[in-house]
Amino acid sequence: MTKVVITGSGAAYGVPSIPRGWGVCDPHNPKNRRLRAGVYVQTDDAHILIDTAPDLHAQLEMLGLDRIDAVLYTHTHADHLHGLDDLRGMTCCMGHSINFYATEEHIREIRKRFSYVIADGAMHKARRPELEPNEICAMHEFRIHKTAIMPLAFAGHTMPTTGFSISGGQVVVVPDFQIIPPQTLQYLQELNVNLLIMPLTAVCQEAYHAGLETVLHYAEIIQPKRCILTHMGIKCDYEAVAKMTPENMMPAYDGLTIEL
Ligand SMILES: [Zn+2]
Repeated sequence: MTKVVITGSGAAYGVPSIPRGWGVCDPHNPKNRRLRAGVYVQTDDAHILIDTAPDLHAQLEMLGLDRIDAVLYTHTHADHLHGLDDLRGMTCCMGHSINFYATEEHIREIRKRFSYVIADGAMHKARRPELEPNEICAMHEFRIHKTAIMPLAFAGHTMPTTGFSISGGQVVVVPDFQIIPPQTLQYLQELNVNLLIMPLTAVCQEAYHAGLETVLHYAEIIQPKRCILTHMGIKCDYEAVAKMTPENMMPAYDGLTIEL
């Protein structure tokens, strides 16, 4: 069985955002209160986090885990990375390092910002264990224990971003994006995706984020069994988005748990 938890369904500033507040989101609907985006996937043999939002402390508390086998990074924007320090509590309690997986350029940036927690960084021995970088490349599958992970390239954000297909399309996590490059789209089209998790930062297209029209267009091509929208900002009211989406698609909320 695979379990998926949306640990945070918000865009970069969360909802309510500081200082713009709730925007069009109904503050009386608890599903509109959103931590920064994160996904947890638990397969038969692996506990996997996708990104470490600045809200990771609250998210780890929500999950109540005593073990993490791997962290997969989509990219290095602060809202996807800056909770990384909270992993140190996990490594201390596990007694060994956590492997994280990112592209070469993303590892370089993570090393720069968090050298003190990287395995070969300048951290004092007494504070080990720490985090172990593993370089990945789009369309080169790797495994966490027996769980297969396929990294996928996405485009149109301010930097190249990485998505992940877990267990042969059982779960596909799409990162911040505007364009799905042809090779990635063809791969997803042929995959028979069970659960597709896509970002919807705002209903209308923004400078570096796909809007609902684009998301619907790609979902139509990929034809997943189910699609969950996450990474929503203050222009995405839960009920309003739910009304605009087809039957097999729904907006996420913090703590949404899906068992596959
Ligand atoms: Zn983001």
